[in-house]
Amino acid sequence: MEELIDRLHKNRDLADSELKILIEDNTQEQKLFETADSVRRENYGTDVYIRGLIELTNYCKNNCYYCGIRAGNQNVKRYRLGKDEILSCCKNGHELGFRTFVLQGGEDNFYSDDLIAEIVSEIKTLYPDCAVTLSIGENSYDVYKRWFDAGADRYLLRHETANAEHYNLLHPQGMNVENRKTCLWNLKKIGYQVGSGFMVGAPYQTTDLLIEDLRFLQELKPDMIGIGPYISHQNTPFNNFPSGDLSRCLRLLAIIRLMFPHALIPATTALGTIDQSGRELGLKAGANVVMPNLSPVKFRKQYELYDNKICTNEEAAECRMCLQKRVISAGYNIVTHIGHVKKSQSAQTV
Ligand code: SAM
Repeated sequence: MEELIDRLHKNRDLADSELKILIEDNTQEQKLFETADSVRRENYGTDVYIRGLIELTNYCKNNCYYCGIRAGNQNVKRYRLGKDEILSCCKNGHELGFRTFVLQGGEDNFYSDDLIAEIVSEIKTLYPDCAVTLSIGENSYDVYKRWFDAGADRYLLRHETANAEHYNLLHPQGMNVENRKTCLWNLKKIGYQVGSGFMVGAPYQTTDLLIEDLRFLQELKPDMIGIGPYISHQNTPFNNFPSGDLSRCLRLLAIIRLMFPHALIPATTALGTIDQSGRELGLKAGANVVMPNLSPVKFRKQYELYDNKICTNEEAAECRMCLQKRVISAGYNIVTHIGHVKKSQSAQTV
């Protein structure tokens, strides 16, 4: 087991059967986490990058079986932010030291391609020292290009699962993994810094499927890799599935750090939801990004992707301070610069 961790550290890769052992076996996880932490420290020191998350809208035309804001959930009170509200979140965030704004939301047709381009371009004009990250789902090459030309720097689109059959178990007809992957390749081609990832413990997920996810990430070489536990939501068809396991999630995170030494890896809100210290543990297992919430507090509870989501009552400043304390207590420091990925020497791998 120790030899496997050392070899993954050295070669950034292992055979499927060996990865399987590291994912499933918790006997050497302290060594795994410490090794992952040493790699993050080699590349990023104790720096933790912060991203200001703005949850644009909880309207969504999709019906993903796991997601609390799915179109079919009649119990959600829907909201969307107008351009001025978004800009005011950015103003607040900029004053608090944020230099990246992540605009995330359901797939909401209210926001025309033009409107998104206009919002991105206004943010970039007002805050030229900041990066804009979009995370608003699947779209065509031309639309992604348009938003990139308007100034968007980064795009987050988790592939969710790399396996077509598994994808079809998590999503209704009309959504497919090929389209999702095509979107990711297009985003890369256009020049975005791309983030992908998946939920750990998603319904029907097996270790073999997780290995397929890792292999897909090796192919895609994203700059950012977001993983977090699946957490069930009462008003979804998956409400009876158990939520993901903290330990398994941390092991995956550490494995990803060893496979992708330079990647930007968030300690997610979902990790902080399944365990009070989840984000601190995530940082200690190799994560180097946190994403405090900048959305207006009055709407926070409504962006409920899963039950008991944390950070729904605090103002942006409180959320930032709370995370700052947590980051320091884990032994790291928040840095407020734009926080681009550091490419490896070969520039081909993250
Ligand atoms: N609509 C955009 C998209 O599809 O990429 C962005 C919003 S979507 C709600 C953001 C992410 O939330 C998804 O990629 C998914 O992995 C995660 N998510 C949704 N439901 C979840 C759940 N029940 N537990 C954990 N994460 C969840």
